[in-house]
Amino acid sequence: MNDETSHKKPEPLELLERLIMRHDAPLEAPPGTEADESFVRTYETLARIKNALFHFSVSKWDFEFTARGTTAGYIKMLQSNLNNLAWKCRQVANGDLDQHIDFMGDISDAFNGMVESLKIKNEIVEAKQRELTAMTQKLKNEIKKKEQTEEALLASEEMYRQRSLRDPLTGIYNRGYFFESAEREMESMKRNEGAQCCILMIDIDHFKKFNDTFGHPVGDEAIKLVTSTINTTLRKADIFARYGGEEFILLLANTDIGTGAAIAERMRLAVFSQPGAVPGNSLPVTISIGLSVVSSNSLSLALPGDRILKTAIDRADAALYQAKAMGRNMVWIYQPGAEHANGEENIL
Ligand code: GH3
Ligand code: MG
Ligand code: MG
Repeated sequence: MNDETSHKKPEPLELLERLIMRHDAPLEAPPGTEADESFVRTYETLARIKNALFHFSVSKWDFEFTARGTTAGYIKMLQSNLNNLAWKCRQVANGDLDQHIDFMGDISDAFNGMVESLKIKNEIVEAKQRELTAMTQKLKNEIKKKEQTEEALLASEEMYRQRSLRDPLTGIYNRGYFFESAEREMESMKRNEGAQCCILMIDIDHFKKFNDTFGHPVGDEAIKLVTSTINTTLRKADIFARYGGEEFILLLANTDIGTGAAIAERMRLAVFSQPGAVPGNSLPVTISIGLSVVSSNSLSLALPGDRILKTAIDRADAALYQAKAMGRNMVWIYQPGAEHANGEENIL
C-alpha cells in the first residue's frame, strides 16, 4: 500500500456500504461530503432508518423516528401497527375480549383466533362459575335448612327438658330438680371454706279451708300467685321449687342465717300484702316459713351431699312445724334439738 492509496478519500458508495454493514459507522454524513447535498440527504436518511431499526430490534417501540420519505413511511407504519397490536394485547389481558385486528395479515388472523378461543374458554369458565354459584347457594340453603331443623330440635329438646324439670301449675322447678341441683350445691360448698346457704320450707296456711271456701280452681290461682310473689324476691342463684301441694322449698345460695331470715320475712310480708286471688276476700293467703342454715365450716366432708341436704331439709321442716304451732304467718329459724322425732343426728 503506498501513501496515495492510504490517504484516498472514501467513495460515497463505500461510505454508504459502511453505514449499512458496520455498527460503528457515523450517523452524520462524514466530513468532506457536505458539498454533495444529495449524498448527505441519502446518507442521513439511511442513518436514521438504521438507528430506528436498531431501537426496534431491542424492543424500544416508542422510539421517535424522524426520517422522511417512502421507506421511512413504511417503517413508521410498521411501528404504528406493532404499537397498536401491543395496545390491543394489553386490552385483551385486561379482559376486553371484543378486540379485533384487520390490518396485519397473518398476525391479525393469529390475534383474532387467539381472542376467539379465549372468548370460548371464558364462556365455559363463566358457565362453570354460574353452575358453581348455583350449587353453593343450594348447599348454603340446605345447610341453613339443616341448621334450622337442628335449632328447632334443640329448642324442642330444651322445652321437653324444661318441662321435665318444672312444675306444670306454677312453672317453677319441681322437687326432682331441686334435689339434683341442691345436692350439687352441697358438694360445691364442701370445697368452699366459709360458704353458707339457707334452706327454707314454705307452706300456705290453712289452705284446706281456702279451697273449701272458694273451690279448687281458685286455690290453684292462689298457689300461682304465692309462687310469683315469692319469685320476685329471689336472686338468680337461688333454687325455688314446688315441694308438693301447697308447700315450697327454697335454697338461698351464699346466704347466712341473718340474711336468710330477713329474706324470708320479706317474702312472708310480700305474700301477706298481696290483694289475693279473690277480690275482696276476707280470707287472706298467708305463708309460714321454716328456715335452716348449712355452713361449709360445719359440714362433715365425709358425708355425701344428699345426706347433708336431707338433714338441712328436716331442720327447716322442724322449724316450719314450729311456725305453724306458734300461730302461722311467721318465719321460724331452726333451733338445735327441734328436729322431728325421726332420730336424725346433729351432723351439720
Ligand atoms: P296448715 O296451715 O297447717 O298448712 O293447714 P293446711 O290446710 O294448709 O294444710 P293441709 O295439709 O291440711 O292441707 C293442704 C291443702 O292443700 C289440702 C289440699 O287440698 C290443698 N292442695 C294441695 N295441692 C293443691 C293444689 O294443687 N291445688 C289446690 N287448689 N289445692 C291444693
Ligand atoms: Mg298448709
Ligand atoms: Mg302442707
